Amino acid sequence: MFIDEYISGVAPANGKILLVDDQVVNIKILHQLLQDDYDIYMARDGHQAIDMCKKVNPDLVLLDIEMPILNGFDVCAHLKSDPATKEIAVIFISGHFDEDKEVKGFNLGAVDFIHKPINPIITKARIRNQLTLKSQSDLLRSIALLDGLTGVANRRKFEQTLPVSWLQCCREQQPLTIILLDIDFFKLFNDTYGHTEGDNCLRKVAQTIQDTVNRPYDLVARYGGEEFVCVLPNTDLTGGTYVAQQIVDSIIALKITHEKSQISDYVTLSAGVATIVPVRNKDDKILIEAADKQLYLSKERGRNRVLGVQVP
Ligand SMILES: [Mg+2]
Repeated sequence: MFIDEYISGVAPANGKILLVDDQVVNIKILHQLLQDDYDIYMARDGHQAIDMCKKVNPDLVLLDIEMPILNGFDVCAHLKSDPATKEIAVIFISGHFDEDKEVKGFNLGAVDFIHKPINPIITKARIRNQLTLKSQSDLLRSIALLDGLTGVANRRKFEQTLPVSWLQCCREQQPLTIILLDIDFFKLFNDTYGHTEGDNCLRKVAQTIQDTVNRPYDLVARYGGEEFVCVLPNTDLTGGTYVAQQIVDSIIALKITHEKSQISDYVTLSAGVATIVPVRNKDDKILIEAADKQLYLSKERGRNRVLGVQVP
């Protein structure tokens, strides 16, 4: 059900295109050709191109090879080495046909080559084809990264996201917070009401967490059986603890009856929060371990509560 909803919610294959060329006249030609069909962004050099890719996350980059300082190959190599930009499709635009250059470009991960002077019809067709492929693979990737039962992200998505958020906060010297959440006495819940009700409970809890954590760059994922994790970039311990408390409060407010719970009439959550200002040479595992420890202490101290720590 969640997968179907997801598919029907996907936007049509319009797409965002970044045009990169050191010659304004070349950008103008492509802009005129494409502006009616796509959202167009522009960059005049390699560094600007990389910055734009991080900022607007285009579906496709039309990348001039011959540029001063950072050439098209360098830009492509950079995009493909960064998890945040490696899925962006790259089409090289080159001044003339050169087999060695094309080999090099494809080896770097480009999807196509277009030669100047461009033929408008062929160029449009190639771009449309690549954008269709891109939207299909985006869709497949998203489905592969969703938890089939609850509809939130799965563990794999979490494992992909954490290093990206880590690097991003590292660059910006911003705090990164994660929240680990675990449903209290969930085994007893399943034993009492059966696995179908258990699954319903997991869905409601997942949805409630998702509704509470709603900034676009935050992530909610199912971490394990009845465990969930939130990744909150640019969030300090105070902010993270506040969000965790909101989640814990909203779960008990759902009033999902749990007569075997030893602390409440209803299903409750325990939360462990950990915050760090990441540095490049540290492993992101320390953040998970710290949150896990806080979660353990929340359980020890009576459950249905939030404990947090700042990781030095
Ligand atoms: Mg050029």
